[in-house]
Amino acid sequence: MSVSQEQKISSTYTLKEDQIALKKQCQISNLLRRKDFKSVVKILQTDQKSRTNYQKLKYQNQIYNVGQNLCIRGDNRSVYIAKLTKIVKLHDDEDNYLPFIKIQWYNRKTELMGLPKDQLECISENEVFKTNEFDYIEIESIIGLAIILSYEEYDKIEELNDNVYFMRATYIDEKLSPPFEQWKKVCMCRKPANPDLKYIFCEICQKWFHLKCVGLSQDQAIKLKKYICLECKN
Ligand SMILES: [Zn+2]
Ligand SMILES: [Zn+2]
Repeated sequence: MSVSQEQKISSTYTLKEDQIALKKQCQISNLLRRKDFKSVVKILQTDQKSRTNYQKLKYQNQIYNVGQNLCIRGDNRSVYIAKLTKIVKLHDDEDNYLPFIKIQWYNRKTELMGLPKDQLECISENEVFKTNEFDYIEIESIIGLAIILSYEEYDKIEELNDNVYFMRATYIDEKLSPPFEQWKKVCMCRKPANPDLKYIFCEICQKWFHLKCVGLSQDQAIKLKKYICLECKN
């Protein structure tokens, strides 16, 4: 092979590599514009050198650790809840650093719209359901920490904060677990308790009843010194 021939071959090769790199960079910019971070991560993480994982991050003076739950900014001022599962910094071919967080979503009532109406009525605005859906999002989407309690813990809280939620079931593969039918029930209507609704406590059987079901208004209930349910009265 002559020298000139060899040069020709190697320069074509470099050109091709450059084109591939340019194409990749264009593709990444497009994906970033569309906020499709999942695909950006997929493209960049094939190369181990381009990715660094972290255990904690500091954003707006708050430290977040992997494993903590977060409030995430949604569209229309809605707040989403998610678990922080990974903190990654990707490094593209043009030496840009792209920080992302990987999160596992918790669904809220508004994201369970496939459920029948009588079941939705038992679900609280502050209730969350762990899903098996993951995403990569921008760090700027973090609003703050979220606290997720069990139903029993949540029920005992006297004063509620904005960032306190509870979970009594998961929503894996779009199925509630434990199923709705197995949730602890209250009142004579035998429905799972929704802490957003008003209840009254029977002094005798120590059970909770919906004000609506026992036919009391909130004012009437407040005035009552003691409540005895219909079953205990008879
Ligand atoms: Zn009831
Ligand atoms: Zn009773």
